Amino acid sequence: MRTILITLAATVVPAISALSYDYVVIGGGTAGLAVASRLSEDTSVTVAVLEAGFDAEGLREVFVPGLIGSGIAFTTLDWAYKTVPQTNLNGRNLTVHAGKGLGGSSLINAMIFPRAGKEQYDAWGQLNNDSSWTWDNLLPFFKKSELFTPPNAFQNASGVRYEEAMHGFNVTEGRVKVGFPNYFFNQSALWRKAAEGLGFPASPDLANGDPHAVGIAPNTIDAANNTRCSAACAYLTPFGHRTNLLVVQNATVSRIIWADSTGGNLRAIGVEYLVNNQNSTIDVSKEVILSAGAIGSPKVLELSGVGNSTILNTAGVKPVLHLPTVGENFNDHVHSWANAFTNITLTKDVLQRNSSFADAQLLLWLRDRTGLYSAAPRSMGIAAPSDIFSRTQLNDLIEQAETNLMRFAEQFSNGNPNLTKGIAAQHRIALDLYKQDKSLPLEMNAEPGYSGPTSIGNRPGVNYTSINVVLYAPLSRGRTHIVSADPHAQPAVDPAYWAHPLDVAAQVGGINLARRMLTAPPLDTIYTGEFEPGEDKDSDAKIEEWLRSVVASDNHEVGSLAMMPRDLGGVVDTSLKVYGTANVRVADASIIPFTISAHTVSTIYMIGERAADIIRAARIESELFSSPNWLAPLQTAFFWLGRGLANWLV
Ligand SMILES: Cc1cc2nc3c(=O)[nH]c(=O)nc-3n(C[C@H](O)[C@H](O)[C@H](O)COP(=O)(O)OP(=O)(O)OC[C@H]3O[C@@H](n4cnc5c(N)ncnc54)[C@H](O)[C@@H]3O)c2cc1C
Repeated sequence: MRTILITLAATVVPAISALSYDYVVIGGGTAGLAVASRLSEDTSVTVAVLEAGFDAEGLREVFVPGLIGSGIAFTTLDWAYKTVPQTNLNGRNLTVHAGKGLGGSSLINAMIFPRAGKEQYDAWGQLNNDSSWTWDNLLPFFKKSELFTPPNAFQNASGVRYEEAMHGFNVTEGRVKVGFPNYFFNQSALWRKAAEGLGFPASPDLANGDPHAVGIAPNTIDAANNTRCSAACAYLTPFGHRTNLLVVQNATVSRIIWADSTGGNLRAIGVEYLVNNQNSTIDVSKEVILSAGAIGSPKVLELSGVGNSTILNTAGVKPVLHLPTVGENFNDHVHSWANAFTNITLTKDVLQRNSSFADAQLLLWLRDRTGLYSAAPRSMGIAAPSDIFSRTQLNDLIEQAETNLMRFAEQFSNGNPNLTKGIAAQHRIALDLYKQDKSLPLEMNAEPGYSGPTSIGNRPGVNYTSINVVLYAPLSRGRTHIVSADPHAQPAVDPAYWAHPLDVAAQVGGINLARRMLTAPPLDTIYTGEFEPGEDKDSDAKIEEWLRSVVASDNHEVGSLAMMPRDLGGVVDTSLKVYGTANVRVADASIIPFTISAHTVSTIYMIGERAADIIRAARIESELFSSPNWLAPLQTAFFWLGRGLANWLV
């Protein structure tokens, strides 16, 4: 692998401008590195990755699990996209964090690694009439991406459970190291018991496709040394020797360059990027893979002239392909909290208040890989509608949503009639899942310390137990679009949080559920009173009013280049190719058509794996068919047979 750094840019840029690669991957993040790494396993092809950030694997805030969010994690390593004023959230501009550096968001995320419910992946297949995008057919790609370390005796005794059949153990194939922490807080076990008492089954494995339960989530932790395993650790660092893989750091892509064409599909022939504000180009002989994330990818497409012509003209970009749903169908999970004072003496709060204790814990991690910094502690419960609403409440909410289904689909689709049909189809599936109690609208997760909207200086300096309440199945849909032709300008990001009444009702219901959890036995033994929302918020209306002033993004934005049929407003087909282009595919969170009830990263690695498989198959197929070889049909048959066998084996 060749890595080009910004420090070399002055001398290197002219040289690399002459380069030509088979595949150019835009964005060296979670899915981008998975795709690049898998494609470059084939030494007969060349692959280049253009990444706006740099290699940050050596930073403590990246590799020490408990240092999440510290140092430069949420500054230099973060795009920190600002939303436009959110109409339903008191006009606030929220921050959507997204990693900037090799590994992308997997570099700064909370390392939680479960999967969503089977039905939600099946919805992708249903929307696209393609059974290859369903849980049963995607599970091999989930498993292929990971190298799972089963819990040790201590982790077992602490309550970790897993199902062997759900995980990847192949030491030559598996890439993302998945394991469990070396530290568990006592209050997390109390919380799991409280949740079980409230009817949540104990999960045999939160990654088994049936996560309506409570348990300990796997983490992207390398069990051998208790460090974070980002996409860079998984897919790049071990392959430094590859001469057919080029990684250009600090390279901000400004546009895809198209061949002159008069009709037919657009063909990408190069990618233009900036290093130190100097323009360079790289030629592409086969395909461009867009992996700049759910905000970055639509931005690059729009800067390249692909999108809604009106929006492009307004931004000062000349349209080359009118694809009006680029950047639409955008949605994100929404985060909220209930927290309580506690009589327990050891919480994460102590780390913040007592610097010598924090130093000692860090030393413990450096010496033994144990202690509070060895963990991103997450016991999680995934709630179904029946955990949140009474039957009558739920029936009323569903009836209202069904009555207003077309009105919301029209409102959310921004004047795109096809997308109106697509969003209506998504809402019908979502409401059916609600009816069957298979929708999983909320994640509840226990935090052994303060988690909430109030800064440390403005809250009592005591210990807390918090329940994070994450809205997992939003029906609201917004958009993200460029407002300028300047590649460094941030787009107008509008997730339209809380635009649908069912989203609001579910999140308010989640706070009530969190309150029930905090005061349920045995968690009640450590409860000494509520801090937030506060006892004065004694009705749903008051909780809702408070939430409007505080809820935050959960940084799980998806859907902006949705994989859906074109007549449902989709942007990519099920081979991930952008409609109207000959050789541009998207592999990242943007393609997720129907939002999932889980943290997103395991699903995005799966997408990266699937994308690489699709691209490799397309290349082999096209080479077989283009050769004037009478054996070609036989070769093709063997190829497909072999591919089926390989997928079946992983
Ligand atoms: C703070 C935070 C916490 C999270 N916690 C969790 C968690 O615990 N568990 C979980 O499952 N998920 C979590 N997520 C979400 C998850 O990490 C992301 O959804 C996922 O990593 C996104 O993958 P991606 O490939 O779509 O994009 P990314 O991984 O974000 O990759 C996009 C890459 O493209 C680059 N890029 C963008 N624009 C350009 C350009 N113009 N030119 C060149 N490069 C460009 C970016 O710098 C980045 O490296 C979290 C996210 C954040 C931000």
